Amino acid sequence: MLTTEVENYPGFPQPIDGPDLISLIRKQAERFGAEFIAGDATEVDFTRRPFKIRAGELYEADAVIVATGASSRWLGLESEKRLRGRGVSSCATCDGYFFKDKDVMVVGGGDTAVEEAIFLSKIARNVTVVHRRDMLRAARHLQERAFKIEKIRFLWSSVVEEILGVDRVEGVKVKDLKTGWLNTYSCDAVFVAIGHTPNTEIFRGQIELDDAGYVKTQAVTRTSREGVFAAGDVADRTYRQAVTAAGSGCQAAIDVIKYLESTGA
Ligand code: NAP
Repeated sequence: MLTTEVENYPGFPQPIDGPDLISLIRKQAERFGAEFIAGDATEVDFTRRPFKIRAGELYEADAVIVATGASSRWLGLESEKRLRGRGVSSCATCDGYFFKDKDVMVVGGGDTAVEEAIFLSKIARNVTVVHRRDMLRAARHLQERAFKIEKIRFLWSSVVEEILGVDRVEGVKVKDLKTGWLNTYSCDAVFVAIGHTPNTEIFRGQIELDDAGYVKTQAVTRTSREGVFAAGDVADRTYRQAVTAAGSGCQAAIDVIKYLESTGA
């Protein structure tokens, strides 16, 4: 969760920073005996119990909850790839401070794009949101906040065709989809916020995934493999909120306990 402020998590009347919320959740889980191991899972074998997970070392488990989340999507432009880390970013919280008093672009029209635009407006000189339609997908309260901020302007029905610059971002070429005109805007950074792809590559062939790669679940957190459960954004293409992810994590934990009891493990 790299979102700046979480406004809809129960129990926090004031917005809380995503990383602060994560740290609190982690401390609470540790109090109940959860152990955290830092590392990337690179391979799994769910064909028989104990299930195997390679994350540097090989780990074995009688049950698994897949909660690998979803990663930012990119526009797929050659210039975007070349200038990533040189002004092209998918995380305003991580990289926004490099662009203090500069002109920045945000691409997208969902909650993430509008949240990032609001966050960046506190740092940058100007923020331009480029969105491919003439209305936002973001929640109304976010839209209302953004529309009130003078520093934020919108380029509607527009797509980024190219990010300009040799070794750092210097501008963008934007196509107006209604007129077909190409315009060039100078800017120092481009924040791409166009949604997410579920992190399920290592589970392909092990559990069923849907067309978009999300883990298929039934009743409520069970995957197609008995003993393997899924929680959070990796199995949720609809709600994807911190609170719904936490809720499904709780459901998965309860399902695991029931499953382990039923197997006598
Ligand atoms: P999203 O809701 O899927 O929105 C993606 C946006 O990018 C859409 O506006 C989409 O345009 C646009 N887009 C997609 N592909 C594009 C492309 N190739 N070129 C140009 N534009 C493109 O993704 P999100 O904003 O990351 O949000 C994901 C989920 O997380 C949502 O459920 C959201 O509610 C949740 N979220 C919640 C919070 C919060 O609670 N504070 C914060 C962030 C995110 P169209 O509108 O035309 O499809």
